[in-house]
Amino acid sequence: MVDTHAHLTFPDFQADLSETIARAKAAGVDKIINIGTDSEHNAKAIELTKKYDGLFAAAGLHPHEAQHFSDELLQKMEEFARHPKVVAIGETGLDFYRNYAPAESQYRAFEAQVELARKTGKTLVMHIRAAFKESWGVLEKADLGEEKVVLHCFGEGIEEAKKAIEKRYFLSFNGTLTFPKSTLPEVVKILPLDLILTETDCPYLAPVPHRGKRNEPAYIPVVVEKLAAVLGRSKEELAEVTATNAARAFGI
Ligand SMILES: [Zn+2]
Repeated sequence: MVDTHAHLTFPDFQADLSETIARAKAAGVDKIINIGTDSEHNAKAIELTKKYDGLFAAAGLHPHEAQHFSDELLQKMEEFARHPKVVAIGETGLDFYRNYAPAESQYRAFEAQVELARKTGKTLVMHIRAAFKESWGVLEKADLGEEKVVLHCFGEGIEEAKKAIEKRYFLSFNGTLTFPKSTLPEVVKILPLDLILTETDCPYLAPVPHRGKRNEPAYIPVVVEKLAAVLGRSKEELAEVTATNAARAFGI
């Protein structure tokens, strides 16, 4: 199984990183992609790939950090992106829910990362919150191609999912799928199996029954199990399919 979106570079894991990775492996999660949010975490994510097997990195600037975007930072990101263990650009996108960065900065950072994805041929990892229409406008114009975009922590409805299916973008699910009031199971049911990815977004969004606690890659099987239950298929099948999808999405 694969955790396609983790933040093991965050201070939350400083005290027990090796144990956290060991627990993931023991749980059958043999690949983890640490997603970059700024220059510091991009560098740390790459460092981790040298220390541990099965770890990969993405280089990006989170929409919350978009006000720090500069040409220099973009150049640095491009250097990171050329590292063989860097398998994606992101996370990027638009977040008009928190609005931690001005919209103008968010657009600028996002559009630059879309171009970087095109230039490097890497897959783009998207964070979209309260900004689907706006994000879609940029993605449609950019037209990165089939299976080159991942909608991380997919939280939209069926209409938006259909648009993603049409483009053959991947949709990635985490602990939010297990929340009792989640409408995501209805979305999952309409998806082609070969576009579904699993992630934790750890340390955030731990699945039930760990909800509210620190999330970690070892909980990926809970998400796989939930997907299997929703789709009426076996856990083993979902584990295999989502791992194959991650292999295609990120070349891992
Ligand atoms: Zn994230």
